[in-house]
Amino acid sequence: MNSPNNAPSRRKFLQTAAVGAVLGPYTLVLGGRAVAAGSRGAPAAGWPNFAKGEVVRTGGQLTADGRFVETQRALPIAGRSDVLIVGGGPAGIGAALAAARAGAKTQLIETAGCLGGVWTAGMLTKIIDGGNKPGIMKEILAAMVARGSLVAKQTQGAIYDPELMKLVLEEMCVTAGIKIRLHTHLVGAVTDQRNRLVAVVTESKSGRQAWVADRFIDCSGDGDLAAQAGCRFDVGATADCECQPMSLMALLAGVNTELVPEFIREIGGGEAKTRFYELMKQSGINPSYRQPTLRHLHSGIFSLMTNHEYGVPAYDADQISVATIRARAEIHAIVAGLRRIGGPWKDVAVVATAEQIGIREGRRVRGRQTVTAADLAQGKKSDDGVCRVTFGIDVHDVWSDSTNPKGADVMENVRRARKQGVKPYDIPLPALIAGDVDGLMMAGRCISGDFIAHASYRVTGNAVPMGEAAGLASAVSLKKGVLPHELSWREIKAT
Ligand SMILES: Cc1cc2nc3c(=O)[nH]c(=O)nc-3n(C[C@H](O)[C@H](O)[C@H](O)COP(=O)(O)OP(=O)(O)OC[C@H]3O[C@@H](n4cnc5c(N)ncnc54)[C@H](O)[C@@H]3O)c2cc1C
Repeated sequence: MNSPNNAPSRRKFLQTAAVGAVLGPYTLVLGGRAVAAGSRGAPAAGWPNFAKGEVVRTGGQLTADGRFVETQRALPIAGRSDVLIVGGGPAGIGAALAAARAGAKTQLIETAGCLGGVWTAGMLTKIIDGGNKPGIMKEILAAMVARGSLVAKQTQGAIYDPELMKLVLEEMCVTAGIKIRLHTHLVGAVTDQRNRLVAVVTESKSGRQAWVADRFIDCSGDGDLAAQAGCRFDVGATADCECQPMSLMALLAGVNTELVPEFIREIGGGEAKTRFYELMKQSGINPSYRQPTLRHLHSGIFSLMTNHEYGVPAYDADQISVATIRARAEIHAIVAGLRRIGGPWKDVAVVATAEQIGIREGRRVRGRQTVTAADLAQGKKSDDGVCRVTFGIDVHDVWSDSTNPKGADVMENVRRARKQGVKPYDIPLPALIAGDVDGLMMAGRCISGDFIAHASYRVTGNAVPMGEAAGLASAVSLKKGVLPHELSWREIKAT
C-alpha cells in the first residue's frame, strides 16, 4: 500500500520545513562537536551510533525572558507506515487491528510499557457496553472468557484480569503484524502546505525521532496528537475546562471472598458500594470517592476503586504527578485503615497500584460532526453509524465540594440530561474525522462530542468499535487514494 506515489516525497518535506516544522537544512551536535549530517535523516556518516548508546546532544540558548530556545536539529525517521496510531488503549487496539487486518502497514505508538491503556496500565477491571458489539470487541471478550477466571466466565468476559489483558492484546497485535513501539511518547506533529498530517515526533530511550505515515489516528484518549497537529478541541464541562476527576486503581489481596460477599460489587450489587463506604466511614476512613468499588477477579485478588482526584487537567504533567502521589498515599492509608478493622480485613494488603492514574476526560477534538446530548435523548441513528452506544450518562462529581455554585449548574444539566434518558444512539463516522486537519482520525474518548455525550460513549465497549472503524476507514481510504471524509461508512464496509 505504501506505493512511491503515496510515500511522502522529499519535496513535501521541504514544504513542511518551510512552514516551520521539523526537517530542513541542519547541523547536528554530537558530543559537543558540530557535525554536518545527511538531508533526510538517513543514518549516514556523522550520525551517532544509537545502538551503542550515543545520543544527539541538545543545543540552544537560555533567554533573558526565562525560556530555552532549542537549536534546530535533524531527527532520524524511525519508521514509515500506511497507518500510524498514537495510543494503545482500547481504541488504539481496535484501530491497529482493523488497519493491519485490512492490509495496511500499521505502526502503533504507546507511552506505557504495555498495551491496553486504562484497561491495563490503568488497572481497570470491567468492560462496559462491550457485550453487544461485534468484531474486535467480541474477540477480546471471548479471549477473556476462554482464558480468564470463573468470574470472567460468569460475566461473559466483562470482568477481566488486567495482566491477562496485556498478554492477549500483545498476542493479537503481534499476530496481526502490527509494529508496536512501547515506552514512546508523542510530542509533536507535522502538517504540510495542504494542511495534511504527514509526520509525528516522539521521545523515548531512542531519543527524539520522526515517524512518517499516510494516515494517522489519535487514540491517545487526551487528544495529544490532534492538539499537536493544530486541531481545535473542547475540554470539560464549562469554558473553565473543569473535568471529571481522575482515579488511581489498585489490586488487593489477603481477604477471603466468602467472608465479605456483601462488599463485593458483583455479589452485593449496587448496594455493595454504599456498604463498603459506610464500613470505611464507621472505621474513621474517609475515602475521596464515596462509592468505593471492590471486585473479586480470581485467586483472592481484588480490584479497588476508592479515589477521586478533583480539578486535575489531563495535560498538566506537574498536577498529574502530584495527584498520582497523593492518590497512591490515600489508597495505602485506606487499606491500612481496613486492616485496623480486623476480622476478615486483618490481612488485606495492596498488591499493586496502577502505573497510570485513570483519566476520565481530556480534549474532545472537533470533528466533522459532533455527538451531542440531544442525540442521546433522541436515540439518533445514522447511515454512517460505526458504533451503537447503549450506556447511560456517567458523570462523577466534577468538584469535591458539592456546594460549589458552578458545580451545581453543571450537575443540574447532568440531572436534566439523565431525566431525558438515553436511547441507544449511533456514533457517526464524521465524529471520528478531524475537522481541521486532513489525514487524521480520532477514536475513543477524544472523538468529537459534548460534555454530556462524552460521559456516555467514553466507556471501553464503545472505544474498541470506534477504533475499529477508524482503522478500517484509514486503510480503505488509502487503498482508494482518497481521504477518509470522502467515503461513506457503507463504501468503507463494502470494501
Ligand atoms: C477510573 C476510571 C474508571 C473507569 N471505569 C470504566 C469501566 O468500569 N468500564 C469501562 O468500560 N470504562 C471505564 N472507564 C472509561 C474508560 O476507561 C476510558 O474512557 C477508555 O479507556 C477510553 O479508551 P481510549 O482508548 O480512548 O483511552 P485510554 O484507555 O486512556 O488509552 C489511551 C492510550 O494512549 C496512550 N497515550 C496517551 N497519550 C500518549 C502520547 N502522547 N503518546 C503515546 N501514547 C499516549 C496512553 O498511555 C493509553 O495507553 C473508566 C475510566 C477511568 C479513568
